[in-house]
Amino acid sequence: MSCPRETDLGVYVLGSLDGAERSAVEAHLAECASCRARQRELAPLPGLLGRLTAEQVEALSAPPPAVLAEPPTVVAPPPAVGLEPPRAGP
Ligand SMILES: [Zn+2]
Repeated sequence: MSCPRETDLGVYVLGSLDGAERSAVEAHLAECASCRARQRELAPLPGLLGRLTAEQVEALSAPPPAVLAEPPTVVAPPPAVGLEPPRAGP
């Protein structure tokens, strides 16, 4: 069902193909129902991406800085209770 040319469609809907590649994809779309269906799914993507700000895109792609900066938490053992060392008498 899926077509090897589907991978071109993502780039196509984003408008990143040059003229010749774009024509090739369009020609293929004319004869491939599978890719036409896939194109309809992908078509809204550029609009959605265009609504994101650069900050939002960065936040989505980068892990939160706190995760990198903070060392793993080491849980200290609880202090021993009732096991004080014997006191030396006077
Ligand atoms: Zn196809």
